Amino acid sequence: MQEPILRAISLNKAFFLGETIYAVNNVSLSVEPGEFIVIMGPSGSGKSTLLSLLGGLDRPISGEIILDGSRYSLLNENGLAGLRREKLGFVFQFFNLIPHLTALENVTLPMRFMGKDESSIKDKASSLLDAVGLNARKSHRPLQMSGGEQQRVAIARALANSPSIVLADEPTGNLDSKTSGEIAALFQRFNHEMKQTFVVVSHDESMTQYADRVAHMRDGRIVGIDEKQEAQG
Ligand code: ADP
Ligand code: MG
Repeated sequence: MQEPILRAISLNKAFFLGETIYAVNNVSLSVEPGEFIVIMGPSGSGKSTLLSLLGGLDRPISGEIILDGSRYSLLNENGLAGLRREKLGFVFQFFNLIPHLTALENVTLPMRFMGKDESSIKDKASSLLDAVGLNARKSHRPLQMSGGEQQRVAIARALANSPSIVLADEPTGNLDSKTSGEIAALFQRFNHEMKQTFVVVSHDESMTQYADRVAHMRDGRIVGIDEKQEAQG
């Protein structure tokens, strides 16, 4: 077995609203390089909170996360922000693109902090937009594009710095079923062709069919993990 690329150890996150709610309750999870993991669970079961912890967007009250050898607990906010930029890609339900920037400019954004030169940044963004099937949309702004096209831009942006892991929170939750299937197929293609590791929160059948493992969350806990049944190629 290889070293996991991401390890979460006994994570806890609570919110205090009159009573204490454990949004994430003693969750441990290891993600192998190249794995495609889907996390399912009812609304309020803690999926988004867990993903925020894994992505270093939020801090647990206890537990540890180790990404590619870096322990989050040893990093200050700047260190964590640097780790997110270099090693993580994020995809959200509502795309979260910058509205006044073109598709190309949105994809270049994460690379602007990495000290690369302008022409290589533009070349990379351009080839990523080609890879997600948007070669004719590079100079369009988000509102000139369909939901599926906006999510493709967001996926290209998430891949810009060749992240160790892409974390996606209900990436097809705002798309029709045909478009959802296309987005799921795109994740699957990057998973297979680039060995890109994905941790995706999704109820979408088209997404779960590509998963190596499906983790089920209830009340802040991972209550079961299904492994892919068919023989791997
Ligand atoms: P899911 O993504 O599975 O729908 P969430 O992670 O958003 O679940 O929420 C898990 C639980 O934590 C819910 O009970 C929710 O109300 C609570 N929660 C999430 N974020 C906050 C917050 N910022 N403040 C208070 N409670 C929160
Ligand atoms: Mg959620």
